[in-house]
Amino acid sequence: MNAAIFTGTFVVAWAASLALRLWLARRQVAHVTAHRDSVPTAFAGSIPLAAHHKAADYTIAKQHVGVVETLVDALVLIGMTLGGGLAWLLEATESLAIDPLWRDVLLLAGVALAGAVVGLPFSWYRTFRLEARFGFNRSTLALWLGDLAKGLVLGVVLGLPLLLAILWLMSRAGALWWLYAFAVWFGFQLLMLVLYPTVIAPLFNKFTPLPAGAARERIERLLGRCGFAVAGLFVMDGSKRSGHGNAYFTGFGRARRIVFFDTLLSRLVPDEIEAILAHELGHYKLRHVVKRIVWSGVFSLAFLALLAWLVTNDWFYQGLGVPVALLPAAMARPGVALALFMLALPVYTFVLSPLAARYSRRHEFEADAFAARNASATALVSALVKLYEDNASTLTPDPVHSAFYDSHPPAAVRVARLVDGGTPAPA
Ligand SMILES: [Zn+2]
Repeated sequence: MNAAIFTGTFVVAWAASLALRLWLARRQVAHVTAHRDSVPTAFAGSIPLAAHHKAADYTIAKQHVGVVETLVDALVLIGMTLGGGLAWLLEATESLAIDPLWRDVLLLAGVALAGAVVGLPFSWYRTFRLEARFGFNRSTLALWLGDLAKGLVLGVVLGLPLLLAILWLMSRAGALWWLYAFAVWFGFQLLMLVLYPTVIAPLFNKFTPLPAGAARERIERLLGRCGFAVAGLFVMDGSKRSGHGNAYFTGFGRARRIVFFDTLLSRLVPDEIEAILAHELGHYKLRHVVKRIVWSGVFSLAFLALLAWLVTNDWFYQGLGVPVALLPAAMARPGVALALFMLALPVYTFVLSPLAARYSRRHEFEADAFAARNASATALVSALVKLYEDNASTLTPDPVHSAFYDSHPPAAVRVARLVDGGTPAPA
């Protein structure tokens, strides 16, 4: 491999993934527009035409913002790499009279800052324009800025020690640094799985135990049958920021939790609460979080091994716009390789996203089947219909767009499978 050829693969992959993203967005808009005027038969009795129109308009509006952001991100990526952005950051930090480790921290902070400068206006627009236009936003500028500040503090408190450890291993631990880095990274992932539900999420939202009510006794029986402690059942004040409703399962061991958004809970009858709960319990009983963490470990190890090989080759830096003449001794500035790798990798892996999405959708089918066996398929369908309507989720996504992006099966497929008796998806 030489630098020019590597630049060639990068430009081709960059253009191809950009074209693919734009093509998928156009397909989604075209498909949703074509189906805007009639509610699909399966939902004809449960979703009013006005709600179907709203879902179509909301989906299309989101796609339009997404297209602009995709284009801006693609330009920033070229600017940071071939455009010389990273080379400039390297030169600017190399002259500072501080430990090389901290030069790399500053360089990566520069990359993160560039990402934030580009990403924050989009985040602001989504919350205060797009979500607001469709009646979903309940956040205020003060809350949004507060979240941002909390995120920044968390990033420094949790991310900086991790980054320092990885950079230190890269520069000082020898040829097998990537194995040690993997151990650190994987340990960090496990720690986050415990810290997220117990410490981090409560910084942003209030979590209260599910209140006693009509459904309580049945829910306790269901939880007992499935070996899940009632203490792990929470209601979150999602209405603080948005009208969107949801429920999720997270964590493992004693930190495991099932969380209902208050926005969802207020709309469901006891049967439906039990069915959604059974779906989330399905994720727990079928060990979906553990399976995910194992897969993410496998991929992390493979990517770290790849990075360990790339860092030793001049063409990797040169080919992505960082002249090797700027680099001091090999691996004296591992942050450069780390930044290039994190920037360039998605361009090559985007084409694989249907695999990850498919894996996630399989888990959703399995959890649905579990809910159908342990609660009621009919109640789960009616809960899902409420969820689709309240969230203005499109019932008619483009199948190819859905295959690429959707972590949950399209509404019609999901409901059809539940109506058929909750038979598990073919692998
Ligand atoms: Zn699920």
